[in-house]
Amino acid sequence: MVASSSDASPRSSSVPSVPETPIAHVTGAAVSPRWRRVVLKLSGEALASAASDETIDAATVARLAREIAAARAEFEVEMAVVVGGGNIWRGTIGAGEGIDRATSDTMGMLGTVINALALQDAIEREGQPTRVLSAVHMAEVCEPYIRRRAIRHLEKGRVVILAAGMGSPYFTTDTPAALRAAEIEAQAIMKGTHSGIDGVYSADPRLEAGAERYEEIGFMEVVSRDLRVMDLTAITFCRDNSIPILVFDIMRPGNIRAALAGERIGTLIS
Ligand code: UDP
Repeated sequence: MVASSSDASPRSSSVPSVPETPIAHVTGAAVSPRWRRVVLKLSGEALASAASDETIDAATVARLAREIAAARAEFEVEMAVVVGGGNIWRGTIGAGEGIDRATSDTMGMLGTVINALALQDAIEREGQPTRVLSAVHMAEVCEPYIRRRAIRHLEKGRVVILAAGMGSPYFTTDTPAALRAAEIEAQAIMKGTHSGIDGVYSADPRLEAGAERYEEIGFMEVVSRDLRVMDLTAITFCRDNSIPILVFDIMRPGNIRAALAGERIGTLIS
């Protein structure tokens, strides 16, 4: 999340504004969320623990699962989770060490399936039904990704966990998050960050004390300022298909709820 330049006014943006106040409100039993159907993008590192060096930290996954299940229960939001695999393997790392790139990327995709199963287990412990749908078919383990099936599961109130990205090498899971969001007609992507940076900044806040967080920013500004918040392919895809992206700190407890309740957290790219 490093900016190539820091001369922009972080608060200024020509994008449509989000309501100033939280827009969740009570309608009968349920609370209306900001969006009815979302894709939650989780990096693999969000399941790990810096403290314990665990690749998949049970307590961390359980906390995420509790928040996801609670969001379902409170808002009845339809949620598809696209999970990454960077805590286990990244294609570029293997390729840098001489492994064939496509093979290395396939290893990364398999890592996302491991994470998806961990997440599934934890969410179902919370009493929330889930389905794992994988872009790489593995019939004994999970269902194949089929768009209409994914939508049906969502309509039935299941959390859909999308594994193996797009099933093709040379991508990261950001681009499938965008693609699946379009396919299932999600109203937004909630991109959880895990590095303590709670949105898009005018410069890397770890390096520049004066860096400011944008509350809203346009897709083109993200691209032109080289604000590395998500893969460029994913950003341009979301722009072309008018899918807003909320970048927020997923490691801060309560933030999934806050995002869905319309609280002004993180940065909205639209
Ligand atoms: N990957 C891929 N195709 C996809 C999605 C993922 O080849 O459609 C591979 C790629 O090697 C990537 C790895 O899976 O590095 C793990 O995904 P990602 O880097 O997005 O994980 P995250 O950073 O979100 O944890």
